Amino acid sequence: MIYLDNSATTRTFGSAAEVAKKYMTETYFNPSSAYGPAVTVEKAVNGARRRIADTINVTPNEIIFTSGATESNNMAFSGALRAMRGNGRIIVSAVEHPSVFETARRYADVGYEVEFVGVDATGRVNVDMLKSMLGDDVRFVSIMQVNNETGAVNDIPAVYNAIISQAPGALLHVDGVQGFLRVPFNARFCDMYSLSGHKFHAPKGVGALYVRNRTKFLGGQTGGGQENGLRSGTSCTSGIMAMDAAIAQYTEHSREYIDGMYACKKRLADNIKRINDTFINGPAIADGAPHILNASFMGVRGEVLLHALEEKQIYVATGSACSSKKKGKNRILDAMGLKPERQESAIRFSLSPFNTVNEMDEAAAAIESIIAVLRRYKRR
Ligand code: PMP
Repeated sequence: MIYLDNSATTRTFGSAAEVAKKYMTETYFNPSSAYGPAVTVEKAVNGARRRIADTINVTPNEIIFTSGATESNNMAFSGALRAMRGNGRIIVSAVEHPSVFETARRYADVGYEVEFVGVDATGRVNVDMLKSMLGDDVRFVSIMQVNNETGAVNDIPAVYNAIISQAPGALLHVDGVQGFLRVPFNARFCDMYSLSGHKFHAPKGVGALYVRNRTKFLGGQTGGGQENGLRSGTSCTSGIMAMDAAIAQYTEHSREYIDGMYACKKRLADNIKRINDTFINGPAIADGAPHILNASFMGVRGEVLLHALEEKQIYVATGSACSSKKKGKNRILDAMGLKPERQESAIRFSLSPFNTVNEMDEAAAAIESIIAVLRRYKRR
């Protein structure tokens, strides 16, 4: 098997899976309980909180554990907007993940004006356009760190500085799901930051939201008051501690992992560029995130190529897994101004430190032979 769909989810590190098992079968105590072994678990969870905080240069009491980035993103909107008086404008980028894009759209039903800032041809948010949209009535802005379909990396410090000067009453939320650990980030350039464990080799169903101290924020689900009263629900200790182990491993091997993914991405791109009528969608290889490459093989529908590759046990995506069942155009590539034929023939390859350069050669050779057949068939 060649697994090239790591933006959808990743294989859990062995180290993380072992830790999860320990917190399920041995130290399974509820960290909110009063006796010693439970307090030990609570301390471990707070250690995990500190590791995330250190990674993005914030303090541990600014980190809230969640069930993943969909929850973090939803909670960023609801926790912040419920704490504000009156309506106003919400601005998100046109290429956000559905957990931001659809969430923003819901606020149009309750009196907010929701606006979308465009991107350039490489998929990066157009900061000049954002500047022309900002104003005193803007309440909330959400711009992703790294796009999950193209690997485009946004200039978050520029976005933040524009907001500080032109919309000082607005909060900036950043969806960091595809950037955390893979692209450097300093969370001091935003008010909120979301991340998700299963995108960096922790299990599914655990994530976090950073909320800057002193932000007016009412949190998410209510109940027993866990997570400092901001996100009730018994802590998923196995998931949190496994996520901690994954962050520790990733951080320790960061250089090796990132260099390895870039080398693979470059090799795959070089191989693909040799195939006729093929376009890379998104930023230049060195400008994008190390693990995401999007390409269109003209004349071959992405879906058809995906399933032909599946027969060879090579797994890729046509776009975000969360929107792959929706028919029609690709919202992300469309925002970049790509023609419908190029959108329809797009494939997203997403890598992890487990991938090898040999796999990039094998995958490209498979693509080349499949599309040679499909294009011949099409011409008849
Ligand atoms: N944001 C982005 C950019 C993503 O890629 C994803 C996962 N596809 C999410 C949010 C949602 O994360 P989760 O699966 O943890 O809900």
